[in-house]
Amino acid sequence: MRCEKCGKENQEGMNFCEACGAPLSKPEYQQPMYQQPVYQQPVYQQPVYQQPVYQQPGMPQEPKKPVGLAVASMVLGIVALVLSCCVPYLPIVLALLAVVLGAVSLAKKMGGTGMAVAGLVCGIIGLVPAVIVIVSGAALFSALGSL
Ligand SMILES: [Zn+2]
Repeated sequence: MRCEKCGKENQEGMNFCEACGAPLSKPEYQQPMYQQPVYQQPVYQQPVYQQPVYQQPGMPQEPKKPVGLAVASMVLGIVALVLSCCVPYLPIVLALLAVVLGAVSLAKKMGGTGMAVAGLVCGIIGLVPAVIVIVSGAALFSALGSL
C-alpha cells in the first residue's frame, strides 16, 4: 500500500504510514453507482388500423359474360337425366360433360352461374345411376371371374 503523502510502500493492512505516520487511505471501494436503469415506458404506439378501403368490386359494367358453357352444361345435364333411364351409355358421357362444363363455367366465374350449377347437379345426378350400373356390373364381372 503506497502512502499518498511520502510515497513509501507500506505493508498491506497498515493504517498509518511507517515513514511519515500519515493515515493510509484504504483504497476506496467506490460504491459502484448502480444507475437505476430508467425503464422508459415504451410508448406503445397505438397502431392505427387503417380501415382498408374495400373497393367495391364494381358490378361488371358489361353483363355480357360468356354463358355458353353454363347453358351447355345445363342442357347436357338435363338430357343426360332424361336419357339415363332408357339409354345405356350415352347419358354417362353427357352427364360427365355436363359436370365438367358446369364446373369449368363456375371455376372461371363465367356468366349463368345458376345454369352452371343446374348442369353440374343434373350431371352428377345423371351419373349416379350410371355409376351404380357400372359398379354393379363390375361387381358382377368380378363375381363371375372369381367363379
Ligand atoms: Zn508516508
